[in-house]
Amino acid sequence: MFDTQKIRKFLQTPHKITITMHHNPDADALGSSLALGHYLKKFGQEVTLVSPSAYPDFLAWMPGIEEVVVLDDTTLSRCSKIIGDSDIVFCLDFSTYNRLKGLEDCVKSCSAHIFVIDHHLNPEIKADFQLWSTEASSTAELVYQFIDLMGDLDKIDIPTGECMYAGIVTDTSSFKHPNTTPNVHRIAAKLMELGVNANRVQRLIYDNNSPSRMRLLGYSLLEKLVILPEYRTAYFTLSQADLQKFENKLGDTEGLVNYALSIQGIFLAAIIIEKTDQVKLSFRSIGDFSVNELAAQHFLGGGHKNAAGGSSSLDLKGTEEQFLQLLPHYKKSLWEASL
Ligand code: 5GP
Ligand code: MN
Repeated sequence: MFDTQKIRKFLQTPHKITITMHHNPDADALGSSLALGHYLKKFGQEVTLVSPSAYPDFLAWMPGIEEVVVLDDTTLSRCSKIIGDSDIVFCLDFSTYNRLKGLEDCVKSCSAHIFVIDHHLNPEIKADFQLWSTEASSTAELVYQFIDLMGDLDKIDIPTGECMYAGIVTDTSSFKHPNTTPNVHRIAAKLMELGVNANRVQRLIYDNNSPSRMRLLGYSLLEKLVILPEYRTAYFTLSQADLQKFENKLGDTEGLVNYALSIQGIFLAAIIIEKTDQVKLSFRSIGDFSVNELAAQHFLGGGHKNAAGGSSSLDLKGTEEQFLQLLPHYKKSLWEASL
């Protein structure tokens, strides 16, 4: 637990605070970081958000997102300076250093206090303070808890609430995943009472698709989906050529894996995507089958029990073969998995 007195004292004087998140930030990484930033600014803190990579267009509506400093070839020295000059660096929504990608060395070597707020398994970040719970649906839920522990719920304004609501909605898949606890519903209700328009946030996230993204979905379901009933598994592979055919933009493949998991009788779903620099895998599962272990043991990754990701230095075909070769090994546990 963290010492609220100490943090309150710290907030009484202005400091340089950086909030950083994982590479390829999703709505929870960005939503929790932005919400925390909005809250800390109310104390006159000098807050900068730094992302290790660009964010998808469908999150561009998030209040304050235009101020996020995104690491790219032209901003490395700026990002290093921001982190190097910080009194405190918050690490939100990731548990391992490698998820910081190009910011890893800056954060590891900086002299700032490190404060982690996260809900991923197997934490390795050395933290001076941490608010970490794998029981939490999302990092946004933990940011809400942080503000609550500080006795400051009345400081949550609509932009702050919208950012938190977006993180909770996406990490629970619109209140569907088993991480949707009574507390999640209580927080969502409280945010609505504070003025958050829940319908607007859901529509901005989910009903904001480009025509080419919808075509990619159709193509993937028709041409690329492989269903292996004997392993209770379904997966997609997408090559660079597939992506280019549909003018792929960052974020277009997000959520695709869930369609594979929605098939009757399927307990393990995967999507294997050929990125420009590596092959990326996303896994989802139902019940006791842990994709966190699968990702950590074979694909240099991790995440949560039912949602995890990883990467491979093999090519797309090689990665698919590796995945297929693993299935017999997991057959027994896939058949033992229950809802
Ligand atoms: P997604 O499949 O949506 O990209 O990610 C699902 C979950 O796995 C998220 O909680 C995400 O943070 C985690 N995850 C995705 N990719 C990686 C990875 O390469 N390494 C680790 N450690 N976690 C990942
Ligand atoms: Mn998260």
